[in-house]
Amino acid sequence: MPRIHVLPDILASQVAAGEVVERPASVVKELMENSLDAGAREVLVEIERGGTALIRITDDGCGMDRDDALLSLERHATSKLRNSSDLHNISTLGFRGEALPSIASVSRFRLITRERDALDGTEIQVHGGKIIDVRVAGSAPGTSIEIKQLFYNIPARRKFLKAESTEASHVEHEVRLHALAAPTVRFRFRRDGNDALELPAVTRKSDRLRHLLGVESAGDLIEMPLHHGNGFSVEGFLLPATHARKGRKHQCVFLNGRPIEDVAVARGLSEGFKGGLMEGLHPAAWLWIEMEPQLVDVNVHPAKREVRFHRSNELREGIAVAVAHGLQQQQRRANTPPPTDVPARTGQVRSFVPSNLTPSEQTATPTLKIPAWIPQATQQEISLPQETLAEKPQPQSARGAAAFRWIGLLHQRFGILESHDGLVLLDPRAARERIVYERILQAQQQGIVSQGLLVPLLIELDPREMDVVLRNQESFATAGLELGDFGGGTLQVRSLPAFLYLTDPLAFVHEVVDDLIAGGAGGARLAYDKLARCLAKRAGLQEKISANTAMVLLEELFTCDLPYCAADGRPTLSEFSLRELDRRFGNR
Ligand code: ADP
Ligand code: MG
Repeated sequence: MPRIHVLPDILASQVAAGEVVERPASVVKELMENSLDAGAREVLVEIERGGTALIRITDDGCGMDRDDALLSLERHATSKLRNSSDLHNISTLGFRGEALPSIASVSRFRLITRERDALDGTEIQVHGGKIIDVRVAGSAPGTSIEIKQLFYNIPARRKFLKAESTEASHVEHEVRLHALAAPTVRFRFRRDGNDALELPAVTRKSDRLRHLLGVESAGDLIEMPLHHGNGFSVEGFLLPATHARKGRKHQCVFLNGRPIEDVAVARGLSEGFKGGLMEGLHPAAWLWIEMEPQLVDVNVHPAKREVRFHRSNELREGIAVAVAHGLQQQQRRANTPPPTDVPARTGQVRSFVPSNLTPSEQTATPTLKIPAWIPQATQQEISLPQETLAEKPQPQSARGAAAFRWIGLLHQRFGILESHDGLVLLDPRAARERIVYERILQAQQQGIVSQGLLVPLLIELDPREMDVVLRNQESFATAGLELGDFGGGTLQVRSLPAFLYLTDPLAFVHEVVDDLIAGGAGGARLAYDKLARCLAKRAGLQEKISANTAMVLLEELFTCDLPYCAADGRPTLSEFSLRELDRRFGNR
């Protein structure tokens, strides 16, 4: 075996660069962090050819004197940590003292820096980790770092870079992230000589976010009110569930000002939507978490993107509550009719409320704007602070259905409705599924009205199916289905929930049993929620829409806590706004 030896510094830096410097975006991230740590009020990021040809970051921060500038290029040289107790109390973005030497070891690197009150500045050039020139330079106060030909001396890494446009978009993502982390700092981003982003310094995060989002999405932003937990606080913004995406690129999370990625946080965000998201989709969210530094370890990842929370469950729950709270407030706002709208629209909308509703239902607040497409979390699912329980949502009759005008049926399958903003399609199956799901969940607390069958149904089941059903007999009974063993492999169904109007009850029960077995309900008893979903799904599939019943279905849907989605997050109503329609027809 070869003898052990200590790595020469440059080689060690190149090894460290393997972790810290993955691509141009990681260089930009490290340098922007340094600028922010240096107290910059302005940061300019310039790249050429996706950062492969040039990266230049210029700031107006504190700058460095000649000695510090030289020292900053040494491995483990940092002004931000002195002893190990500092490590538990980190308030700067950097602290490892690795970035500059790592970056300089894999590029042609130039640093120009000047302290504010110094007469002149310092310029240092480094090629592949070797200092080749140090000189006095005239420069503006602050620091400018230029990286040319990243990975020029490590062809293997250079080969791993993606298309220049891909690398550029990763860089832009980093710039946006840090711009959100530090709204009071002016950020500019120039790409191949063109201005790509120009973000003036603002005092509020929301203004920075609106700048970045553009007018269209910014109008949909939902504010999450500040929520205090044990040793932490969270606040931020969300977009409605319709903006949810497959990836998590639209989730920006800042912990004490540092962009991070964390599964507990992501889970909390999704949980706050409480079944309002389609499966596999993640909500768009911007979250600022302030946490006592002792409650989190930020030194677990070379690029410091991942952190370790000591009480991640509390944080997750806190975030879920904050999200639910934000959605709830928004829902309430959306349900309050805009005062100027009322007289003009009342008559028209009311005349389309079906005549089979009671008079009080017919006249109940008929002029609602379509609420934003936002699911509302319910109080029994998440405990909210007392004062929010007091200001409960408006009575059910004041909610949505009356804001729609019935137009007709589409292929006996979808309902066509007119809304304040355009055209809305109703999926009756998804709607029924939502209604049944919530009724069955409620049954667990409040009981259920079940309807005894005059002639009990008899269903032949094989032994495995029978076993699954009998093991869950109690849950079925809670949900309003009384079932029993009739002997000889026959199941007897004695009652069904009264609110379930099934066209084929026999098929319904059989399909539910099939689903439960296919869903792996073999062993232990089923979670009640799973049973509820399954019953809801099958009831939904039997739903037939007709012009006579559609508005009743809609009314019923709007008595639900989350009327806009089925139990699995599929939408129940889908809107095509006038603006969107105009765009399709080319009317601007
Ligand atoms: P770290 O940020 O972990 O301390 P770096 O290698 O990124 O390590 O930077 C080393 C040191 O160089 C920093 O601690 C800081 O003192 C100094 N430095 C780096 N960039 C700047 C800058 N833009 N302005 C002022 N000082 C800087
Ligand atoms: Mg740093």
